[in-house]
Amino acid sequence: MSFTILVVDDSWESREVITSILNAQEDYNLILAENGQDAIRKLASQTIDLVITDISMPVMDGLELLDHLTQEKPELPVITYTGFGDLFGAKALERGAEDCVFKPFDARDFRLRVAKALKYSRLKKYQEMLEQKNEELRQLSITDQLTQIYNRRYLQEVLHREFTRARRYRSKLALLIADIDHFKKINDTLGHLQGDVVLRELAALIRNTTREVDIPFRFGGEEFLVLLPETDRRGAETVAERLRRAAEAMPVFKLGTTELADVKISLSIGLASFPDPRIRHEMDLVILADEALYLAKKQGRNCVMIG
Ligand code: GH3
Ligand code: MG
Ligand code: MG
Repeated sequence: MSFTILVVDDSWESREVITSILNAQEDYNLILAENGQDAIRKLASQTIDLVITDISMPVMDGLELLDHLTQEKPELPVITYTGFGDLFGAKALERGAEDCVFKPFDARDFRLRVAKALKYSRLKKYQEMLEQKNEELRQLSITDQLTQIYNRRYLQEVLHREFTRARRYRSKLALLIADIDHFKKINDTLGHLQGDVVLRELAALIRNTTREVDIPFRFGGEEFLVLLPETDRRGAETVAERLRRAAEAMPVFKLGTTELADVKISLSIGLASFPDPRIRHEMDLVILADEALYLAKKQGRNCVMIG
């Protein structure tokens, strides 16, 4: 883990001294500033883990810089140093400094204090890394790997949330299930991998033919489910019909090429919408849509049925 330290001093010699003390540390990246104002400019353009500042400087002194940082970046540790008496030191601590060092510096002591002040930054960095990893894991756990849309596990969570909301606020919620017709034939004649290409392209098509607030999931092998918040029966029918037509016209590319494969697909779609006296529980929406899908298959496929 490497740290960026901003050293603020109007004296060139002092900056040199600090640089030579800290440069022995490989994981410190030093940035130099000549006064408080210069420091603020540099802080705005890069991520800094620690500020080490002189107290008496022209333009903007160390205590003013400290006040600014306490206000604007309270999480950023600051070490101040001074050549004048201990009054300044106490003042600096009072105004938010992590530590105060007196000149002339004792190199070993100085390095130790810097390391100590960075301990907190180190913890914060680990915490951020962990949070990011957790978020990545969460995304992975709710995403279908093949199609990169949400998976069935996440459906349970979202369906519960959307259904509860719709019931609570008496708003509308529709749901459709689309199943590829005779998909097995595509696998059987062109291979499973080409079948996978079809599933990926259909997932992209579903995303593109629905609104941003609509939420598509891969429900099973070649079945997709789309939740349509604030959508009534007629609206859902329009969406389903649009999707059915788009799937009919969907070009399918040969595996790993930009050449068209000799594949045409069609969808059977079942839909259901809330409110409906038959729907008391969120799963009733899925059951009704699934029954409608079954009817669509029985009707001869490539059509939309309403539950
Ligand atoms: P129907 O019109 O009645 O829906 O016929 P169908 O052939 O689409 O339906 P069926 O349920 O009999 O077959 C679904 C096929 O989907 C069988 C299975 O091998 C295939 N499948 C499921 N998951 C995947 C997958 O991840 N990749 C590929 N390539 N095929 C899959
Ligand atoms: Mg099918
Ligand atoms: Mg199926």
